Amino acid sequence: MLSDAASLWLPQAKKIPSPNWNERPADSTIDLLVIHGISLPPGKFGGPWIHALFQNRLDPQADPYFATIAGLRVSSHLLIRRSGELVQYVDLYKRAWHAGASHFEGRTGCNDFSIGIELEGTDQIPYTDRQYAVLAETAHQLMRYFPKIGTDRIVGHCHIAPGRKTDPGPAFDWQRFFTLLAAVQIPRKKTGYEPEGS
Ligand SMILES: [Zn+2]
Repeated sequence: MLSDAASLWLPQAKKIPSPNWNERPADSTIDLLVIHGISLPPGKFGGPWIHALFQNRLDPQADPYFATIAGLRVSSHLLIRRSGELVQYVDLYKRAWHAGASHFEGRTGCNDFSIGIELEGTDQIPYTDRQYAVLAETAHQLMRYFPKIGTDRIVGHCHIAPGRKTDPGPAFDWQRFFTLLAAVQIPRKKTGYEPEGS
């Protein structure tokens, strides 16, 4: 059960708030982690454009691709850049708009009950070592906050929106990720990730 007052921003993440979120349904249990891949423009890394997209200030003139997506109202809870930098756009208790039309084990609208993590990348270019390391640590942390997220409830956007979405793509090595996740040992002191009030 989520309290109205609850708010959860990861202490180690750079906070760049997006206006693109709303409340989860009152009976939501957060029990799914969705991994995505994104780069703007596609295949170009390091620019300010992902932040701009999630903050509704993408300049449609800046790249031909941007004109096709500039009107979207989307977000993700988290982004892991190529460098491993972790960015948080939306309070984890709130509903970010990352999954779109989607389904998981008979439930539709995965935004209601999931947390979305974007990896800066493409379907075809290998993700970086730092991204795998930070993703494994962050997933571990999220599983501590939200114990209903088991390893069988960590999926790609491609899995919940098949035929419509392909990210994080063949470039994402699931085996490598799950091996790293199983090996994560984070001292609580390092990230201070006990939920407030616990
Ligand atoms: Zn996606």
